[in-house]
Amino acid sequence: AAATPLLQTRGLQARYGDAQALFGIDFRLDAGEVVAIIGANGAGKSTFLKSLTGLVQVDPGAVRLRGEAIGGRAPGEIVRRGLAMVPEGRRLFPSLSVEENLRMGAFARRPGRWTLERLYTMFPILKEKRRHPSGALSGGQQQMVAIGRALMSNPDILLCDELSLGLAPIVIREIYEAMPTITADGMSVVIVEQDVTLAQQVSRRVYCFQEGRVSLEGDSSALSREQISQAYFGL
Ligand code: ATP
Repeated sequence: AAATPLLQTRGLQARYGDAQALFGIDFRLDAGEVVAIIGANGAGKSTFLKSLTGLVQVDPGAVRLRGEAIGGRAPGEIVRRGLAMVPEGRRLFPSLSVEENLRMGAFARRPGRWTLERLYTMFPILKEKRRHPSGALSGGQQQMVAIGRALMSNPDILLCDELSLGLAPIVIREIYEAMPTITADGMSVVIVEQDVTLAQQVSRRVYCFQEGRVSLEGDSSALSREQISQAYFGL
């Protein structure tokens, strides 16, 4: 039998009141892997990430971390167990400084390699602007702060929701260039990404969501344009 996955969902369902958003998601993530989730607006990608981090209620056994049922645990407990999220829209505290925002991420700090100094080496501009209010930074710099804040908990798994949203291509590239540094010591990453080409480039495997279901899954390098557009749009 295959080894127990680092993170696994089986038949994961999620709903908002009467509206069901996820209809049985089967997903796995192994140690050191980068996995991308693609899909149209409303396909359920954000809801899936929120289901993993306790922000949306799910059955306990629907989410397993190293085999242990963690579905529906409180968000703080999930961070302490090693999952950290870079949320859509960054959600920084705009009047607090860059460094204060980064320190927020250390509230549930686990032992590990990520420190302020290491973050500043990866994103030197953040060191330069560490005393500035985060709200005064450019969109790309704010995204770097959001990534840094998540890394400050020293997670085993980093969940990224639409890192590229609203950013210029050159800034997106700069942010994604940090991925090899982030994964160098074995961290696993799940990225939700609207840009399919980018998603395929940075990930080892891809899941495509359509209307709350997985419509396609496979090795990023093996999936064709045609397969993806069919899974994406249901054409
Ligand atoms: P996007 O790229 O627009 O964020 P997504 O793939 O992340 O899309 P979700 O945001 O997960 O999709 O939305 C999945 C479904 O759940 C949609 O039908 C959406 O309208 C619904 N939904 C999302 N958030 C809520 C909410 N807070 N209350 C009610 N319904 C919601």
